[in-house]
Amino acid sequence: MLVYLDNAATTKMSETAKRALFDATENVWGNPSSLHTVGQEARAALEGARERIAKLLGCEAREIYFTSGGSEADNQAIISAARYGAKKGKKHIISTKFEHHAVLHTLNRLEKEGFEVTLLDVYENGMVRIDDLAAAIRPDTCLVTVMYANNEIGTVQPIREIGELCRARGVLFHTDAVQAVGHIPVNVKEESIDMLSLSAHKFHGPKGVGVLYAKRGIVLTNIIDGGAQERGKRAGTENIPGVLSMTAALEESVAHLDENANKMIPLRDKLIDALTKIPHARLNGDRDHRVPGIVNFCFEGIEGESLLLMLDMNGIEASSGSACTSGSLDPSHVLLAIGLPHEVAHGSLRLSLSEYTTEEEIDHVIKTVPGIVEYLRNMSPVWEELENGTRKHLI
Ligand SMILES: *Cc1c(COP(=O)(O)O)cnc(C)c1O
Repeated sequence: MLVYLDNAATTKMSETAKRALFDATENVWGNPSSLHTVGQEARAALEGARERIAKLLGCEAREIYFTSGGSEADNQAIISAARYGAKKGKKHIISTKFEHHAVLHTLNRLEKEGFEVTLLDVYENGMVRIDDLAAAIRPDTCLVTVMYANNEIGTVQPIREIGELCRARGVLFHTDAVQAVGHIPVNVKEESIDMLSLSAHKFHGPKGVGVLYAKRGIVLTNIIDGGAQERGKRAGTENIPGVLSMTAALEESVAHLDENANKMIPLRDKLIDALTKIPHARLNGDRDHRVPGIVNFCFEGIEGESLLLMLDMNGIEASSGSACTSGSLDPSHVLLAIGLPHEVAHGSLRLSLSEYTTEEEIDHVIKTVPGIVEYLRNMSPVWEELENGTRKHLI
């Protein structure tokens, strides 16, 4: 049995998304900037997709900008707000300690240019506190950027409250909603969101395509200069097959949001209940405020990497956290942000489900993980010290 539980890293394309990709590749291959019929057919398909995405997010078509994915959308949102703020003498940005690197590394770059960045604490439960945000906003704050759902531990932030607070205080609000859109209900208007990033490959669409939503009136800065595509804000011939496939995937995901959640949540919770029974194991992130698909555990006394290799040998494909940190010996910044000691953060396991995950697969995981954890602990000198009392258990 092959069990794919790394859907937070990427998802397999749905049949609908594949069909839309093939159809567009065959039939809508023109350049939307061309004035002839083939070009204008591509233009019509592109603008149709923009309308359809806008409808799903609760905004207007002209507020949708197609990008190469979540990372580019995050970069453009943050840099735009920073450039606009700087013109008005506002060079303070608020974010959180556990953002995706597409956000954190962009903020690092701006810090080097003289911006000041405040990173909010996310506490042991992996949640931002609205009072902390209220206290952090200053007269020179030009942007608040808080992710909708965390990609490693799955916690969902109080986005509507954050949006309302930012609106009331006159500060732009961006959210990296890559792990939320297509998984839980998102509506930019109802939640007072000014800018939002999403990525197709996290909801069974193709890789290399995403969206930046920017509320009308927001001045965007180009990340890519060139032609006048995307209202002059993102140069490059449009990825029409990618956009049409993403649109089909998102329509399908949003149409089945409740159905998928009702299927996934019991499986997620069954997995959480079973893994919680392993001694010296800990669920990371608030148990209730989480997306339907993400489960993250730490097991004391083992290395996450060894666990992943042994799971792979047993047909279970998982992750220790972020795809970006693999190959690095540093523990995840997300797990450190929720207060885990380094040695515990090293023993992490992220299992991320999709609507295609079956109960049989979850049962296989529940049967397999405890034995592997025990096997690895029995080989570990650290575990021996923990058990004979020369080292203190941390969890
Ligand atoms: C995957 C991911 C991104 C990056 O999106 P890409 O389309 O791969 O560039 C950004 N933020 C979060 C939360 C993600 O999970």
